[in-house]
Amino acid sequence: MKGKKGFQKEYLNPEWKGDGVGYHALHAWVKRHLVKPERCEECRKKKKLDLANISQKYLRVLIDWRWLCRRCHMISDGRLEKFKKARMGMKPSRGFQKGNYYGK
Ligand SMILES: [Zn+2]
Repeated sequence: MKGKKGFQKEYLNPEWKGDGVGYHALHAWVKRHLVKPERCEECRKKKKLDLANISQKYLRVLIDWRWLCRRCHMISDGRLEKFKKARMGMKPSRGFQKGNYYGK
């Protein structure tokens, strides 16, 4: 199976503590309903993907979750504040990045 390490990382995230009881159920719910793409939704590369929460409020809405590769997951965690602000003004469009992003 996949993603054990990804979950470990989530455990270290202090944000989920208060709501820890529902966390696993929520994760399972999102996995069932948010179709896992072939490619990372951020960099469009074919990699092992983790479920990434966008708001870190672990909302039970699918738009609050994305499938990201490990790298993009970490990056998006780091720039969360920017993400939040961006989401205020405009909806993030999935697959917005250009396709020719594979080089290097
Ligand atoms: Zn990625």
